[in-house]
Amino acid sequence: MCCGGGLALAMMNDVASVQPAPHPLTALADHAERTPLGPNFEPEPEDEQPLYAARRKVYPQRVTGTFRRVKWAVLCVTLGIYYLLPFVRWARGPNAPSQAVLVDFPNRRFYFFFIEIWPQEFYYITGLLILAAMALFLMNAIAGRIWCGYLCPQTVWTDLFQAIERWTEGDRREHLQRDRQPWTFDRLARAGSKHFLWLMVAWWTGGAWVLYFADAPTLVRDLATFQAPYIAYVFIGLLTFTTYALAGWMREQVCVYMCPWPRIQAALTDEYALNVTYRYDRGEPRASLKKAAALHEQGLPAGDCIDCLQCVHVCPTGVDIRGGPNLGCIQCGLCIDACDAVMQKIGRPARLIAFDTDINIKRREQGQRPIYRILRMRTVLYAVVIAVVGVAMIYTLATRHNDAVSVLHDRNPLFVRLSDGSVRNAYTMRILNKSLEPRTFLLSVAGLSEADIDVIGSSSFSGSSPLIDVGPDQSREVRVLVTERERLGAGTSVPITFTIVPKAGGTAVSASDHFFGP
Ligand code: SF4
Ligand code: SF4
Repeated sequence: MCCGGGLALAMMNDVASVQPAPHPLTALADHAERTPLGPNFEPEPEDEQPLYAARRKVYPQRVTGTFRRVKWAVLCVTLGIYYLLPFVRWARGPNAPSQAVLVDFPNRRFYFFFIEIWPQEFYYITGLLILAAMALFLMNAIAGRIWCGYLCPQTVWTDLFQAIERWTEGDRREHLQRDRQPWTFDRLARAGSKHFLWLMVAWWTGGAWVLYFADAPTLVRDLATFQAPYIAYVFIGLLTFTTYALAGWMREQVCVYMCPWPRIQAALTDEYALNVTYRYDRGEPRASLKKAAALHEQGLPAGDCIDCLQCVHVCPTGVDIRGGPNLGCIQCGLCIDACDAVMQKIGRPARLIAFDTDINIKRREQGQRPIYRILRMRTVLYAVVIAVVGVAMIYTLATRHNDAVSVLHDRNPLFVRLSDGSVRNAYTMRILNKSLEPRTFLLSVAGLSEADIDVIGSSSFSGSSPLIDVGPDQSREVRVLVTERERLGAGTSVPITFTIVPKAGGTAVSASDHFFGP
């Protein structure tokens, strides 16, 4: 059903449009929409909603407008990145993979364009997770669940699946009517086409996922010729199933019952966060155009809401935003588009539903100007944390060395006294050569007065420094023995520093530990 059709019905009659059984989360709102509400209308509290209810199918109606266009743009960009990114190439040199984004489990590397993360550098992933969490908190403090409405993968894929559904089964009214009729060849063909297209998208989604874990063009060829590792087929199957189930069947149930973010978000929000809000100060008491005219004739007030239910019919989660804040509302803004179209048709100002705050509704009711506070303690705090972590990560990435060394003292024994009275400590050392060339390193130790240093398995020296060869883009673990000839006092624990320097020249890197005596 088109927007104008529903609107015409609302204009002529009190509401008579076809709608599905009410969604459990909108039970309160449904009650509200049937009840004439006075100027003292207040949204009903969310905690009266049931903890769980069986799913009622939602038939979201097609809508056009600003927020719908933004959603299409975000959908195209995010899905385009997801499906095509594995095929983007990035030249790193002859001995390195040329895939721009690659999780290389066999060699324990993560490649992201010019960045190569080793397992020893997992703190970068920690930094990224902190940045992601803070960005989510900041988005929430500014504009509520904007992540849920536009960027969350569940929303993006569900949006795509709903578009396929409207394409194959028709828009809301047509689909509703068909679902009430007995099965015919036409109905079977439409439902079959829908599920086939859903499965194709789901399969493509699973296929794209595994391409991030191997060279994409090679893996595509191997998959097509059934020569790929069986685990690739297993993961494609798993992701095909989960995408089909989550985006095709479970949809808003995931947001309402499975995802923890709505609950966390509710605890993090405040009265200044922008949320999709029904401006009940302007909309109530709601009445159809005919009824509103009758009310005006009697000198009674009537709000701008004509109770046409267009905002409910376009909602992808089946929420009636006029009932107030709702756990099921993902803040996609499609009800704003629907209501704006209605307001335009009846010649009333747009944004009866808008991104707004409760505090502003109350201020307008009291004749005060609305206020918008983007800069608040929490938004500044989140922004500062993002800036500090971001700058720290960029600095460490820009200044990190091509080589690294770590050392671990033997736990037992801590030391060994040799027959000539000298004391020996043993260490396990790991040397990382992140360059794409084989390299030889000179090892030295500082902090002891008369120490000898030996590397088990290496007989090459440059002066008194043992030489250690490490292959390109590899790490090597060696056993190191440090022997101090000078007599040490009882209970000695001397801080020492191991240093490696590339033989061909380059920057020295160090690692610290202790040398223990008797
Ligand atoms: S809020 Fe707007 S779209 Fe929703 S019922 Fe009222 S007039 Fe119609
Ligand atoms: S109530 Fe409006 S903003 Fe919320 S999910 Fe429904 S259409 Fe989107």
